Amino acid sequence: MSKQPLIPPIGHKVRLKDYDPGYTGDFRHKEDVQAQLAKDLARLDELQEVFYADGRRALLIILQGIDTGGKDGTIEHVFSGVNPQGVQVTAFKKPTSEELAHDFLWRVHRNVPPKGFIGIFNRSHYEDVLVVRVHDLVPRKVWKERYDQINQFEAMLAANDVTILKFFLYISKAEQKKRFEARLKDPKKQWKFAMGDLDERQRWDDYMAAFEDMLTKCNTEYAPWHIVPANHKWYRNYIVTQTVISTLERMNLKYPQPAEGIENVVIPD
Ligand code: AMP
Ligand code: MG
Repeated sequence: MSKQPLIPPIGHKVRLKDYDPGYTGDFRHKEDVQAQLAKDLARLDELQEVFYADGRRALLIILQGIDTGGKDGTIEHVFSGVNPQGVQVTAFKKPTSEELAHDFLWRVHRNVPPKGFIGIFNRSHYEDVLVVRVHDLVPRKVWKERYDQINQFEAMLAANDVTILKFFLYISKAEQKKRFEARLKDPKKQWKFAMGDLDERQRWDDYMAAFEDMLTKCNTEYAPWHIVPANHKWYRNYIVTQTVISTLERMNLKYPQPAEGIENVVIPD
C-alpha cells in the first residue's frame, strides 16, 4: 500500500476511492502505536495547559463523518487526559426552530471557542452541505452557495486568532455494517441506534458525493481537511492526537511573564 496523504492536495478534486479507510501507515497492529499514543496523550495535556496560559489563540477542531464513523469515540479517547476546564465540546443536532430562524452559521459562530480554549465540534456547519443536501432540506441553489460562505466564515475566524483543524473520519460501508451490528447486540450501545440510521445508510453514495464536495471545495490553507482512515480506531486516535499535538507545537506557546518583583515576594505567616 502506497503512502496516503492526510491532507488532500488543495485545489484538486477529492475522490474517496483513492483513499483507503483501512490504511494504517507504517503500522500493523494496535500494539505498534500503544506506547506512543500513551506518551502523546500526556504530551497533549501539557500542551493544553500552556495553550490556556498563553491565551493568544483559540483552537477549533471539527469532526465530521458518517454515522458510526467514530466522532464520539475520537473525542472520548483523544481528550481523555486533558483538563476539562480548557475544553468545550459542542454537538450539533437537528436545528431547533430558533436556530432555523437564523442563518445557518449563527449557532456555529456562538460556539466558536474563545482564546485559550480548545473547542471541539461533533458535527458542525458542514451538516448544512451534507444531511441538508442529501435530504433536499433546502433548494440546491441555497446549499450550493454555502461552500463559499463557509470558506469566508473560516477565513474570518483564522484571521481572528482561531486555528481550525478539520477531520473527516472515513470508514468503509462494510465497517459501518459491523459497527451497526455491534450496536444492536450491545445493551449499552443499543440506545445509540436510531431506526432512521438505516435510511441514511441507504443513501451511502449520496453522502460520499457530498463528502467529496465538502473535502474538495472547503480544503484551504487556513482550514485544511484531514482525511483520517478510521476503520481502525487505534490508528484514527493516533493520527488525530498527533495532528493536534503538532498543531499546538507549531504555535510556539509560552507561559506569560510572571508579575514584576515576584522574586522578592515573601508569603507572610
Ligand atoms: P447524532 O450525532 O447521532 O446525535 O445525530 C444528530 C443528528 O442531527 C444527525 O442525524 C444529523 O444529521 C442531524 N443534524 C445535524 N445538523 C443538522 C442540520 N443542520 N440539519 C439537519 N439535520 C442536522
Ligand atoms: Mg446518530
